[in-house]
Amino acid sequence: MSRNVLVTGGAGYIGSHVCVELMQQGHQVVVIDNLDNGSPVALQRVEQITGKRLRFIQADVRDQVAVQSALVEHGVDAVIHFAALKAVGESVARPLAYYDNNLNGAISLLRAMQGAGVTDLVFSSSATVYGDPRSNPISEDFPLRATNPYGRSKLMIEDMLRDLGAAEPNWNISILRYFNPAGAHPSGLIGEHPSGVPNNLMPYIAQTASGLRDCLAVFGDDYPTRDGTGVRDYIHVVDLARGHLSALARLAQHPGVIIHNLGTGTGYSVLEIVAAFERACGMPIPYRMESRRPGDIAECFADPSLARAELGWSAQLDLAAMCADSWRWQQANPQGYPDPS
Ligand code: NAD
Ligand code: UDP
Repeated sequence: MSRNVLVTGGAGYIGSHVCVELMQQGHQVVVIDNLDNGSPVALQRVEQITGKRLRFIQADVRDQVAVQSALVEHGVDAVIHFAALKAVGESVARPLAYYDNNLNGAISLLRAMQGAGVTDLVFSSSATVYGDPRSNPISEDFPLRATNPYGRSKLMIEDMLRDLGAAEPNWNISILRYFNPAGAHPSGLIGEHPSGVPNNLMPYIAQTASGLRDCLAVFGDDYPTRDGTGVRDYIHVVDLARGHLSALARLAQHPGVIIHNLGTGTGYSVLEIVAAFERACGMPIPYRMESRRPGDIAECFADPSLARAELGWSAQLDLAAMCADSWRWQQANPQGYPDPS
């Protein structure tokens, strides 16, 4: 079934990859993005990869009037909501900016959807809502406890969506809890270029390999893991993007509120990621051990079996592909997207 899908935050890292998959599957895409952390060049490249056109509206999701008119004007029948601020450390320093953007953005979007009679929604949540899990792998029924303003904003939106689903059973809402997105589109045309110094491991390694950074700081080698460094479930952004299409297809069957982990089920340590990236780029990645980063947990990986059973989705791309694709993107776009002008 071909759908008219509004993608909020579609000019960002994950959203642009989802636009590609949607368009390649024959869906029509409307993007709303305020370009706070996204680029119009990403959208041009989505069109280049797919050979198809999308519609772009530069607006803030907190502008309810703009969002509702976009929904009505373009006959939208489903929304995928990425637009958010996402840096944990920054959320501790600027909590009000995070609550304003993420919570008010979600409320405004939901009201606009109500106004336009659109009731199918896929929402980007995060494994951060599990806090420091009691064990691994993590399944969807684990206790939820966010430990920073970013995580709390995701958890509050999840709660809001569960409340909305209970009050208005005509809504169909998919909450997707991402583990650690990594990699880039295999074309090398779209990927992630964080502004400033990258917080996340993969972009930091990629920028070190390309000479933009001198040396990776490994945050902690005294965790109770196989080599002492932190373990995470890295998932290729293309696999992650395809998970959204599986969720969208499930929503068409009117399931109410559904919640799924999107991860591979395999955890890799920081040093294993460094070694895999070295194989992909054919160079050593200089690194030094540093103390633990405050707030980090030792280990976190998904039980992805519910998504496999209910969505028919599982990750197909391995760590070698994540590193190779990330390196291809980094080499082709060492400074990220060019200035659109
Ligand atoms: P991103 O910053 O690359 O993309 C987000 C996009 O939303 C950007 O293009 C930005 O300009 C836009 N945006 C932000 N606030 C907006 C607003 N108020 N109105 C309109 N547009 C707005 O981030 P991403 O990595 O693609 O993440 C997408 C979603 O996935 C976010 O909700 C994030 O919290 C969630 N998530 C990301 C990760 C990750 O590691 N990348 C992990 C778990 C969850
Ligand atoms: N990490 C690191 N150096 C960095 C960035 C991250 O050693 O410059 C480690 C971090 O401690 C964690 C893993 O890499 O064990 C993944 O960190 P990231 O910030 O990418 O994801 P998250 O902590 O949100 O899972």
